[in-house]
Amino acid sequence: MVELITSREKLVNYLESSQLSRGLVPTMGNLHQGHLTLIKESINENDLTVVTIFVNPKQFGPNEDFDKYPRTLEADLDAIRSIDKALDKNVIVFAPEKIEDIYPEGFSSTISVHGFDQILCAKDRPGHFDGVTTVVYILFNLIKARRAYFGLKDFQQTLIIRKMVKDLMIPIEIKLVEIVRDSNGLALSSRNKYLDLKQKEEALTLTKSIKKLKDSLLKSGIKDTIKMKDDILEDKRFVYLDILDANNLHPLDDRSKEAVIAGAIMIGTTRLIDNTLVSLNVR
Ligand code: AMP
Repeated sequence: MVELITSREKLVNYLESSQLSRGLVPTMGNLHQGHLTLIKESINENDLTVVTIFVNPKQFGPNEDFDKYPRTLEADLDAIRSIDKALDKNVIVFAPEKIEDIYPEGFSSTISVHGFDQILCAKDRPGHFDGVTTVVYILFNLIKARRAYFGLKDFQQTLIIRKMVKDLMIPIEIKLVEIVRDSNGLALSSRNKYLDLKQKEEALTLTKSIKKLKDSLLKSGIKDTIKMKDDILEDKRFVYLDILDANNLHPLDDRSKEAVIAGAIMIGTTRLIDNTLVSLNVR
């Protein structure tokens, strides 16, 4: 059964009367197959799944798309109901109507995880990850799930959340889910809604560049691949493109076991991200 809850009070009441083990899937809505994959995993692994839908103002910069971000609650509920198992397992969709149900009046706290500043998305989106960790911490506190599900599409976010959980000793298991792509290879994103067909084609520049760098890293090694990356970055649509140690987002060194190749690109006014992991064990 899929049940919509729109107030914090009702959610707390529901959770207080339920002993079922919980999985949490935090989202900003406008659900696509990427989100649905996270939700399916949670349904498979937990008795109760709580999907949160909240477009979090704290993770948007002043010139970003908070106002126009797609809000499609009815379609999102239908999408969740279309998951077979959602019907015989318990699924709560928590979509708070009032912002005070997440940030009480006069809210003045921030959860800040350091060590990943000035790299990848942190560079051009100052304050973004503080907004993410603050809302995720609140959701962890509110829902007290046993497991929480996050997509590897937001790779830097997964590292930051795992670090927050470790540092603050939050009793929750973080589960990571592979990037879900369309048939052309474009990583699914709610922001793909802003693109027309031609722009979707153009957006593949990011995916293809990352793939090219991965092939080069495996075949020719880091030095040649960094040169290739710098050439690609001549294309000013790229916000960043980097090859880093996937464990800590430091530059690769001899001890690195896995690399992440991550990039962001502007297609018109739409900012898209993508990444891939590369195992370096074979060296
Ligand atoms: P969002 O609604 O964009 O905040 O995303 C909610 C969750 O879905 C995050 O953990 C994202 O990493 C994850 N997600 C978004 N797009 C994808 C995708 N294409 N594949 C896998 N997970 C995704």
